[in-house]
Amino acid sequence: MLALAITAELNGVTDLQPEDAEATPFYYTFKVQCTSCREIHPNWVSVSRFEQNEQSGSRGEANFVWRCKNCKREHTANILEAPKPYAQQDPPKPMNIITIDCRGLEFVEFKADGDWKAVGAESGTKFSGIDLTDGEWYDYDEKAGEENLSPELYDAIYELTFTCERRQQEITKEYKPPALLQVDQASRNIYANRITANPSST
Ligand SMILES: [Zn+2]
Repeated sequence: MLALAITAELNGVTDLQPEDAEATPFYYTFKVQCTSCREIHPNWVSVSRFEQNEQSGSRGEANFVWRCKNCKREHTANILEAPKPYAQQDPPKPMNIITIDCRGLEFVEFKADGDWKAVGAESGTKFSGIDLTDGEWYDYDEKAGEENLSPELYDAIYELTFTCERRQQEITKEYKPPALLQVDQASRNIYANRITANPSST
């Protein structure tokens, strides 16, 4: 079981979440790694919890069916439930927004593609179509603006991580540590920059 956690600094808004309903499904965009041979697929893949794909050999369906080009094994993933809204908090802490049942694969990177939504913390104004691809979003809450001159909303997802469910792991000869512990120097630098960058200065 793998969970996607986000950390977001929210000013003036709360309950940030992907717009993910049956009529407007959200496509979660990931980099995927095979847990059998550890190969990371070079392209981004998209997973919708409303889409079912056939597994080979009539083994049923899954939200995501993927055959590793390297070892030829077929793996699957299912998003278990609707995303959980991320509530405004100070300081921002990582929170799981979706949980994914992964079989034979792991998602190692997440891109915040697609539309997100949030709610004005005081005004209750609904914001939709929020684009977080550059990690930041600004908008102006008109309702709150009646009482307040500069209620500029500011919001940034500055950290996207995967967390694993805690479980006992028997260490055998074949055991390989989780993919997140095997990232290369470049990825670690990107991650380090994300968590040390001051979002308000950009
Ligand atoms: Zn493989």
